[in-house]
Amino acid sequence: MEYFLTEQQKTIKSLARRIAEEKILPVRAELDEREEFPWDIIKDLADSDLFRIFVPEEYEGLGGGCLDLYLVIEEISRVCAGVAISYAASALGSSALLEFGDEEQKQKYLPDIASGKKLAAFALTEPTAGSDVRAIRTTAEKVSGGYVLNGTKQFITNGGEAEIYTVIALTDKERGARGASAFLVEKDTPGFSFGKKEKKMGLRTSSTRELIFRNCLVPEENMIGREGMGFIMTMKVLDRSRPGIGAQAVGLAQGALEAAIEYARQRVQFGQPIISLPVVQNMLADMAIQVEAARALTYAVARTIDSGAERFTEESAMAKVFASDMAMKVTTEAVQIFGGAGYMRDYPVEKMMRDAKVTQIYEGTNQILRSVVASELRKGKARQG
Ligand SMILES: Cc1cc2nc3c(=O)[nH]c(=O)nc-3n(C[C@H](O)[C@H](O)[C@H](O)COP(=O)(O)OP(=O)(O)OC[C@H]3O[C@@H](n4cnc5c(N)ncnc54)[C@H](O)[C@@H]3O)c2cc1C
Repeated sequence: MEYFLTEQQKTIKSLARRIAEEKILPVRAELDEREEFPWDIIKDLADSDLFRIFVPEEYEGLGGGCLDLYLVIEEISRVCAGVAISYAASALGSSALLEFGDEEQKQKYLPDIASGKKLAAFALTEPTAGSDVRAIRTTAEKVSGGYVLNGTKQFITNGGEAEIYTVIALTDKERGARGASAFLVEKDTPGFSFGKKEKKMGLRTSSTRELIFRNCLVPEENMIGREGMGFIMTMKVLDRSRPGIGAQAVGLAQGALEAAIEYARQRVQFGQPIISLPVVQNMLADMAIQVEAARALTYAVARTIDSGAERFTEESAMAKVFASDMAMKVTTEAVQIFGGAGYMRDYPVEKMMRDAKVTQIYEGTNQILRSVVASELRKGKARQG
Protein backbone atom coordinates (compact mmCIF):
# COMPACT_ATOMS: atom_id res chain seq x y z
CA MET A 1 0.00 0.00 0.00
CA GLU A 2 1.25 3.49 -0.82
CA TYR A 3 1.10 5.69 2.27
CA PHE A 4 2.65 8.76 0.63
CA LEU A 5 5.27 9.16 3.33
CA THR A 6 7.51 12.19 3.03
CA GLU A 7 11.18 11.70 2.11
CA GLN A 8 12.07 12.33 5.76
CA GLN A 9 9.57 9.72 6.95
CA LYS A 10 10.94 7.18 4.47
CA THR A 11 14.45 7.89 5.80
CA ILE A 12 13.33 7.50 9.42
CA LYS A 13 11.53 4.24 8.61
CA SER A 14 14.48 2.72 6.80
CA LEU A 15 16.94 3.85 9.48
CA ALA A 16 14.79 2.25 12.22
CA ARG A 17 14.48 -0.93 10.12
CA ARG A 18 18.22 -1.11 9.59
CA ILE A 19 18.99 -0.76 13.29
CA ALA A 20 16.29 -3.30 14.16
CA GLU A 21 17.69 -5.85 11.72
CA GLU A 22 21.38 -5.25 12.35
CA LYS A 23 21.44 -4.64 16.09
CA ILE A 24 18.27 -6.05 17.62
CA LEU A 25 17.54 -9.19 15.58
CA PRO A 26 20.77 -11.00 16.53
CA VAL A 27 20.15 -10.53 20.28
CA ARG A 28 16.36 -10.41 20.68
CA ALA A 29 15.94 -14.02 21.84
CA GLU A 30 18.76 -13.64 24.35
CA LEU A 31 17.40 -10.35 25.69
CA ASP A 32 13.99 -11.97 26.11
CA GLU A 33 15.40 -15.08 27.75
CA ARG A 34 17.58 -13.14 30.18
CA GLU A 35 14.96 -10.43 30.81
CA GLU A 36 17.78 -7.97 30.41
CA PHE A 37 17.25 -4.26 29.75
CA PRO A 38 18.58 -3.46 26.23
CA TRP A 39 21.03 -0.70 27.14
CA ASP A 40 23.36 -1.38 24.20
CA ILE A 41 20.49 -1.04 21.79
CA ILE A 42 19.15 2.07 23.49
CA LYS A 43 22.61 3.51 22.88
CA ASP A 44 22.44 2.52 19.20
CA LEU A 45 19.03 4.19 18.88
CA ALA A 46 20.42 7.28 20.60
CA ASP A 47 23.52 7.36 18.37
CA SER A 48 21.20 7.24 15.36
CA ASP A 49 19.28 10.27 16.70
CA LEU A 50 16.02 8.35 16.95
CA PHE A 51 15.23 9.80 20.40
CA ARG A 52 15.40 13.27 18.82
CA ILE A 53 12.37 12.57 16.65
CA PHE A 54 9.72 13.37 19.25
CA VAL A 55 11.50 16.46 20.64
CA PRO A 56 11.18 19.95 19.06
CA GLU A 57 14.22 21.43 17.32
CA GLU A 58 14.69 24.20 19.92
CA TYR A 59 15.48 21.50 22.51
CA GLU A 60 17.95 19.63 20.30
CA GLY A 61 15.32 17.42 18.72
CA LEU A 62 14.25 16.87 15.13
CA GLY A 63 10.72 18.15 15.62
CA GLY A 64 8.94 15.15 14.14
CA GLY A 65 5.23 14.46 14.43
CA CYS A 66 3.29 11.47 15.70
CA LEU A 67 3.56 9.61 12.40
CA ASP A 68 7.37 9.91 12.46
CA LEU A 69 7.45 8.52 16.00
CA TYR A 70 4.99 5.70 15.21
CA LEU A 71 7.06 4.66 12.19
CA VAL A 72 10.04 4.09 14.47
CA ILE A 73 7.92 2.19 17.01
CA GLU A 74 6.46 0.03 14.22
CA GLU A 75 9.82 -0.83 12.70
CA ILE A 76 11.44 -1.72 16.02
CA SER A 77 8.38 -3.77 17.02
CA ARG A 78 8.60 -5.74 13.79
CA VAL A 79 11.75 -7.22 15.30
CA CYS A 80 11.29 -6.79 19.07
CA ALA A 81 8.30 -5.18 20.77
CA GLY A 82 10.16 -5.22 24.09
CA VAL A 83 12.86 -2.88 22.81
CA ALA A 84 10.18 -0.80 21.09
CA ILE A 85 8.26 -0.19 24.32
CA SER A 86 11.44 0.90 26.12
CA TYR A 87 11.91 3.49 23.38
CA ALA A 88 8.22 4.48 23.20
CA ALA A 89 7.93 4.85 26.99
CA SER A 90 10.55 7.60 26.87
CA ALA A 91 8.32 9.51 24.45
CA LEU A 92 5.33 8.82 26.73
CA GLY A 93 7.27 10.00 29.78
CA SER A 94 8.19 13.23 27.97
CA SER A 95 4.76 13.92 26.56
CA ALA A 96 3.27 15.99 29.43
CA LEU A 97 6.50 18.00 29.61
CA LEU A 98 6.42 18.60 25.85
CA GLU A 99 2.81 19.71 25.81
CA PHE A 100 2.38 21.46 29.16
CA GLY A 101 5.86 22.08 30.56
CA ASP A 102 7.30 25.57 30.96
CA GLU A 103 10.35 26.87 29.13
CA GLU A 104 12.72 26.29 32.03
CA GLN A 105 11.63 22.66 32.46
CA LYS A 106 11.95 22.01 28.74
CA GLN A 107 15.43 23.54 28.59
CA LYS A 108 16.49 21.52 31.60
CA TYR A 109 15.18 18.08 30.65
CA LEU A 110 14.49 17.76 26.92
CA PRO A 111 18.03 17.96 25.46
CA ASP A 112 19.13 14.90 27.47
CA ILE A 113 15.99 13.00 26.48
CA ALA A 114 16.55 13.97 22.82
CA SER A 115 20.13 12.74 22.89
CA GLY A 116 19.02 9.48 24.51
CA LYS A 117 21.38 10.14 27.40
CA LYS A 118 18.39 9.94 29.74
CA LEU A 119 15.23 7.88 29.43
CA ALA A 120 11.86 9.06 30.67
CA ALA A 121 8.86 7.20 32.11
CA PHE A 122 5.20 7.91 32.84
CA ALA A 123 3.80 6.86 36.21
CA LEU A 124 0.05 6.77 36.67
CA THR A 125 -0.97 3.18 37.59
CA GLU A 126 -1.08 2.05 41.22
CA PRO A 127 -2.03 -1.20 42.96
CA THR A 128 -5.55 0.14 43.58
CA ALA A 129 -5.84 2.21 40.39
CA GLY A 130 -5.55 0.69 36.93
CA SER A 131 -8.53 1.32 34.68
CA ASP A 132 -10.00 3.48 37.44
CA VAL A 133 -7.31 6.15 37.34
CA ARG A 134 -9.15 8.41 39.74
CA ALA A 135 -8.60 5.83 42.48
CA ILE A 136 -4.91 6.76 42.75
CA ARG A 137 -3.71 7.25 46.33
CA THR A 138 -0.26 8.75 45.84
CA THR A 139 -0.37 12.15 47.47
CA ALA A 140 1.60 15.34 46.86
CA GLU A 141 1.33 17.57 49.89
CA LYS A 142 2.22 21.23 49.46
CA VAL A 143 5.02 22.38 51.74
CA SER A 144 7.30 25.36 51.66
CA GLY A 145 9.29 25.23 48.39
CA GLY A 146 7.68 22.13 46.95
CA TYR A 147 5.52 19.06 47.32
CA VAL A 148 6.07 15.93 49.39
CA LEU A 149 5.14 12.74 47.53
CA ASN A 150 3.99 9.57 49.29
CA GLY A 151 2.68 6.44 47.60
CA THR A 152 3.46 3.56 45.27
CA LYS A 153 3.20 3.35 41.49
CA GLN A 154 2.92 -0.06 39.84
CA PHE A 155 3.82 -1.57 36.44
CA ILE A 156 5.89 1.42 35.31
CA THR A 157 7.72 0.88 32.01
CA ASN A 158 11.37 1.96 32.16
CA GLY A 159 11.07 1.92 35.98
CA GLY A 160 14.53 1.87 37.50
CA GLU A 161 16.21 2.55 34.13
CA ALA A 162 14.77 6.00 33.38
CA GLU A 163 16.24 9.13 34.93
CA ILE A 164 13.14 11.32 34.57
CA TYR A 165 9.63 10.34 35.74
CA THR A 166 6.35 12.10 35.11
CA VAL A 167 4.35 11.19 38.20
CA ILE A 168 0.64 11.79 38.69
CA ALA A 169 -0.27 12.41 42.33
CA LEU A 170 -3.19 13.81 44.31
CA THR A 171 -2.77 17.41 45.41
CA ASP A 172 -6.36 17.60 46.67
CA LYS A 173 -8.33 14.42 47.39
CA GLU A 174 -11.59 16.31 47.57
CA ARG A 175 -11.47 17.85 44.11
CA GLY A 176 -12.20 14.75 42.00
CA ALA A 177 -11.13 15.27 38.38
CA ARG A 178 -9.26 18.41 39.44
CA GLY A 179 -7.56 16.69 42.36
CA ALA A 180 -4.37 15.47 40.69
CA SER A 181 -1.22 17.16 39.43
CA ALA A 182 1.81 16.07 37.40
CA PHE A 183 5.40 16.22 38.65
CA LEU A 184 8.80 15.67 37.12
CA VAL A 185 10.77 13.50 39.54
CA GLU A 186 14.44 12.74 39.02
CA LYS A 187 15.72 9.27 39.75
CA ASP A 188 18.11 10.25 42.52
CA THR A 189 15.63 12.37 44.48
CA PRO A 190 15.80 11.42 48.20
CA GLY A 191 12.70 9.46 49.21
CA PHE A 192 12.26 7.95 45.73
CA SER A 193 13.16 4.27 45.35
CA PHE A 194 12.26 1.24 43.25
CA GLY A 195 10.36 -1.84 44.35
CA LYS A 196 9.36 -5.06 42.65
CA LYS A 197 10.66 -5.69 39.14
CA GLU A 198 7.91 -7.61 37.35
CA LYS A 199 8.55 -10.94 35.67
CA LYS A 200 6.39 -10.77 32.60
CA MET A 201 4.76 -12.98 29.97
CA GLY A 202 6.15 -10.86 27.16
CA LEU A 203 8.16 -7.67 26.48
CA ARG A 204 10.65 -9.32 28.78
CA THR A 205 13.61 -7.17 27.81
CA SER A 206 11.70 -4.09 28.98
CA SER A 207 11.69 -3.03 32.60
CA THR A 208 8.34 -2.88 34.42
CA ARG A 209 8.76 -1.80 37.99
CA GLU A 210 7.25 -0.36 41.13
CA LEU A 211 8.11 3.22 42.13
CA ILE A 212 8.01 4.03 45.82
CA PHE A 213 7.76 7.53 47.22
CA ARG A 214 8.36 8.04 50.94
CA ASN A 215 8.40 11.67 52.01
CA CYS A 216 9.95 12.52 48.66
CA LEU A 217 10.35 16.29 48.36
CA VAL A 218 9.91 17.51 44.80
CA PRO A 219 10.73 21.18 44.15
CA GLU A 220 7.82 23.42 43.24
CA GLU A 221 9.33 24.20 39.85
CA ASN A 222 8.97 20.51 38.92
CA MET A 223 5.18 20.65 38.76
CA ILE A 224 4.07 20.41 35.13
CA GLY A 225 1.34 22.87 34.22
CA ARG A 226 -0.92 23.98 37.04
CA GLU A 227 -2.15 22.29 40.20
CA GLY A 228 -5.24 20.20 39.46
CA MET A 229 -4.37 19.54 35.79
CA GLY A 230 -2.97 16.03 36.34
CA PHE A 231 -5.90 13.96 35.09
CA ILE A 232 -6.65 16.28 32.19
CA MET A 233 -3.01 16.10 31.07
CA THR A 234 -3.05 12.32 31.48
CA MET A 235 -5.99 11.97 29.12
CA LYS A 236 -4.30 14.19 26.54
CA VAL A 237 -1.01 12.32 26.87
CA LEU A 238 -2.75 8.97 26.39
CA ASP A 239 -4.73 10.21 23.38
CA ARG A 240 -1.40 10.83 21.66
CA SER A 241 0.33 7.69 22.77
CA ARG A 242 -2.40 5.07 22.19
CA PRO A 243 -1.98 5.04 18.40
CA GLY A 244 1.71 4.39 19.18
CA ILE A 245 0.57 1.14 20.79
CA GLY A 246 -1.36 0.60 17.55
CA ALA A 247 1.95 1.02 15.70
CA GLN A 248 3.64 -1.40 18.08
CA ALA A 249 0.88 -3.94 17.34
CA VAL A 250 1.18 -3.39 13.58
CA GLY A 251 4.95 -3.91 13.69
CA LEU A 252 4.62 -7.05 15.80
CA ALA A 253 2.01 -8.50 13.45
CA GLN A 254 4.08 -7.59 10.38
CA GLY A 255 7.03 -9.47 11.86
CA ALA A 256 4.84 -12.49 12.59
CA LEU A 257 3.34 -12.44 9.09
CA GLU A 258 6.77 -12.35 7.45
CA ALA A 259 8.04 -15.18 9.64
CA ALA A 260 4.94 -17.26 8.83
CA ILE A 261 5.33 -16.74 5.06
CA GLU A 262 8.99 -17.72 5.20
CA TYR A 263 8.26 -20.83 7.25
CA ALA A 264 5.30 -21.86 5.06
CA ARG A 265 7.57 -21.63 1.98
CA GLN A 266 10.20 -23.96 3.35
CA ARG A 267 8.14 -26.40 5.48
CA VAL A 268 7.32 -29.46 3.39
CA GLN A 269 4.47 -31.80 4.30
CA PHE A 270 2.70 -34.30 2.04
CA GLY A 271 5.43 -33.69 -0.52
CA GLN A 272 4.85 -29.95 -0.96
CA PRO A 273 5.62 -26.70 0.85
CA ILE A 274 2.66 -25.94 3.12
CA ILE A 275 2.28 -22.54 1.40
CA SER A 276 0.80 -24.50 -1.53
CA LEU A 277 -2.14 -25.52 0.66
CA PRO A 278 -5.21 -23.31 0.10
CA VAL A 279 -6.00 -23.32 3.83
CA VAL A 280 -2.56 -21.88 4.65
CA GLN A 281 -2.84 -19.36 1.81
CA ASN A 282 -6.19 -18.21 3.20
CA MET A 283 -4.71 -17.80 6.66
CA LEU A 284 -1.81 -15.77 5.28
CA ALA A 285 -4.11 -13.65 3.14
CA ASP A 286 -6.36 -12.86 6.11
CA MET A 287 -3.32 -11.97 8.20
CA ALA A 288 -2.00 -9.62 5.50
CA ILE A 289 -5.42 -7.94 5.10
CA GLN A 290 -5.71 -7.37 8.83
CA VAL A 291 -2.19 -5.97 9.19
CA GLU A 292 -2.74 -3.53 6.33
CA ALA A 293 -6.12 -2.39 7.66
CA ALA A 294 -4.63 -1.71 11.10
CA ARG A 295 -1.66 0.11 9.57
CA ALA A 296 -3.94 2.29 7.45
CA LEU A 297 -6.07 3.23 10.48
CA THR A 298 -3.02 3.92 12.67
CA TYR A 299 -1.39 6.16 10.05
CA ALA A 300 -4.68 7.96 9.42
CA VAL A 301 -5.06 8.72 13.12
CA ALA A 302 -1.41 9.87 13.28
CA ARG A 303 -2.08 12.25 10.42
CA THR A 304 -5.23 13.52 12.13
CA ILE A 305 -3.15 14.34 15.21
CA ASP A 306 -0.31 15.86 13.17
CA SER A 307 -2.82 18.05 11.30
CA GLY A 308 -3.40 19.91 14.58
CA ALA A 309 -6.85 18.47 15.29
CA GLU A 310 -8.10 19.48 18.73
CA ARG A 311 -9.83 16.25 19.72
CA PHE A 312 -9.02 12.73 18.66
CA THR A 313 -9.90 10.63 21.70
CA GLU A 314 -12.16 8.17 19.88
CA GLU A 315 -9.92 7.90 16.82
CA SER A 316 -6.94 7.20 19.05
CA ALA A 317 -8.88 4.54 20.99
CA MET A 318 -10.08 2.96 17.74
CA ALA A 319 -6.55 2.60 16.38
CA LYS A 320 -5.25 1.06 19.59
CA VAL A 321 -8.15 -1.40 19.95
CA PHE A 322 -8.25 -2.45 16.30
CA ALA A 323 -4.50 -2.88 15.92
CA SER A 324 -3.98 -4.72 19.21
CA ASP A 325 -6.85 -7.16 18.63
CA MET A 326 -5.43 -7.68 15.14
CA ALA A 327 -1.92 -8.35 16.50
CA MET A 328 -3.24 -10.94 18.94
CA LYS A 329 -5.07 -12.74 16.10
CA VAL A 330 -2.23 -12.51 13.59
CA THR A 331 0.50 -13.65 15.98
CA THR A 332 -1.70 -16.58 17.12
CA GLU A 333 -2.26 -17.58 13.49
CA ALA A 334 1.49 -17.32 12.87
CA VAL A 335 2.13 -19.80 15.68
CA GLN A 336 -0.52 -22.08 14.13
CA ILE A 337 1.21 -21.96 10.73
CA PHE A 338 4.47 -22.99 12.38
CA GLY A 339 2.69 -25.98 13.96
CA GLY A 340 4.65 -27.53 16.84
CA ALA A 341 7.74 -25.51 15.93
CA GLY A 342 5.72 -22.36 16.61
CA TYR A 343 5.37 -23.40 20.22
CA MET A 344 9.12 -23.69 20.65
CA ARG A 345 11.43 -20.87 21.67
CA ASP A 346 13.72 -21.67 18.73
CA TYR A 347 11.38 -19.62 16.52
CA PRO A 348 10.35 -16.00 17.02
CA VAL A 349 6.58 -16.37 16.75
CA GLU A 350 5.92 -17.63 20.29
CA LYS A 351 7.63 -14.49 21.61
CA MET A 352 5.57 -12.35 19.24
CA MET A 353 2.36 -13.95 20.50
CA ARG A 354 3.40 -13.36 24.13
CA ASP A 355 4.42 -9.78 23.33
CA ALA A 356 1.16 -9.05 21.50
CA LYS A 357 -1.09 -9.79 24.48
CA VAL A 358 -0.17 -6.71 26.46
CA THR A 359 -1.10 -4.38 23.62
CA GLN A 360 -4.74 -5.25 24.44
CA ILE A 361 -4.14 -4.37 28.09
CA TYR A 362 -1.94 -1.33 28.65
CA GLU A 363 -2.62 2.35 28.00
CA GLY A 364 -6.30 1.57 28.64
CA THR A 365 -7.63 -1.95 28.26
CA ASN A 366 -9.56 -2.62 25.09
CA GLN A 367 -12.73 -2.95 27.16
CA ILE A 368 -12.26 0.53 28.58
CA LEU A 369 -11.39 1.96 25.16
CA ARG A 370 -14.46 0.38 23.57
CA SER A 371 -16.52 2.13 26.21
CA VAL A 372 -14.78 5.40 25.25
CA VAL A 373 -15.86 4.89 21.64
CA ALA A 374 -19.34 3.75 22.69
CA SER A 375 -19.91 6.79 24.88
CA GLU A 376 -19.35 9.02 21.84
CA LEU A 377 -21.75 6.89 19.83
CA ARG A 378 -24.36 7.21 22.59
CA LYS A 379 -24.04 10.96 22.31
CA GLY A 380 -24.87 10.60 18.62
CA LYS A 381 -21.40 11.64 17.50
CA ALA A 382 -20.69 8.87 15.00
CA ARG A 383 -18.21 10.24 12.48
CA GLN A 384 -19.19 10.11 8.85
CA GLY A 385 -15.88 10.49 7.10
C1 LIG B 1 3.79 -4.49 30.74
C2 LIG B 1 3.01 -3.34 31.29
C3 LIG B 1 3.55 -2.06 31.23
C4 LIG B 1 2.85 -0.98 31.77
N1 LIG B 1 3.42 0.27 31.75
C5 LIG B 1 2.81 1.28 32.40
C6 LIG B 1 3.43 2.57 32.52
O1 LIG B 1 4.52 2.80 31.98
N2 LIG B 1 2.81 3.55 33.24
C7 LIG B 1 1.61 3.34 33.84
O2 LIG B 1 1.11 4.25 34.49
N3 LIG B 1 0.97 2.14 33.75
C8 LIG B 1 1.54 1.12 33.05
N4 LIG B 1 0.92 -0.12 32.96
C9 LIG B 1 -0.38 -0.30 33.58
C10 LIG B 1 -1.53 -0.48 32.59
O3 LIG B 1 -1.84 0.72 31.96
C11 LIG B 1 -2.70 -1.10 33.37
O4 LIG B 1 -2.33 -2.43 33.64
C12 LIG B 1 -4.01 -1.06 32.58
O5 LIG B 1 -4.49 0.25 32.47
C13 LIG B 1 -5.10 -1.91 33.23
O6 LIG B 1 -5.19 -1.68 34.60
P1 LIG B 1 -5.17 -2.92 35.61
O7 LIG B 1 -4.00 -3.78 35.25
O8 LIG B 1 -5.23 -2.41 36.99
O9 LIG B 1 -6.47 -3.74 35.27
P2 LIG B 1 -7.92 -3.51 35.93
O10 LIG B 1 -8.31 -2.09 35.80
O11 LIG B 1 -7.93 -4.13 37.29
O12 LIG B 1 -8.83 -4.35 34.95
C14 LIG B 1 -9.04 -5.76 35.09
C15 LIG B 1 -10.08 -6.17 34.06
O13 LIG B 1 -11.33 -5.52 34.33
C16 LIG B 1 -11.76 -4.82 33.19
N5 LIG B 1 -12.43 -3.59 33.61
C17 LIG B 1 -12.11 -2.78 34.65
N6 LIG B 1 -12.94 -1.74 34.73
C18 LIG B 1 -13.80 -1.87 33.69
C19 LIG B 1 -14.89 -1.11 33.20
N7 LIG B 1 -15.32 0.01 33.81
N8 LIG B 1 -15.57 -1.55 32.10
C20 LIG B 1 -15.17 -2.69 31.48
N9 LIG B 1 -14.13 -3.46 31.88
C21 LIG B 1 -13.46 -3.04 32.97
C22 LIG B 1 -10.49 -4.52 32.40
O14 LIG B 1 -10.75 -4.29 31.02
C23 LIG B 1 -9.70 -5.79 32.63
O15 LIG B 1 -10.11 -6.77 31.73
C24 LIG B 1 1.59 -1.19 32.37
C25 LIG B 1 1.04 -2.48 32.40
C26 LIG B 1 1.73 -3.54 31.88
C27 LIG B 1 1.10 -4.91 31.94
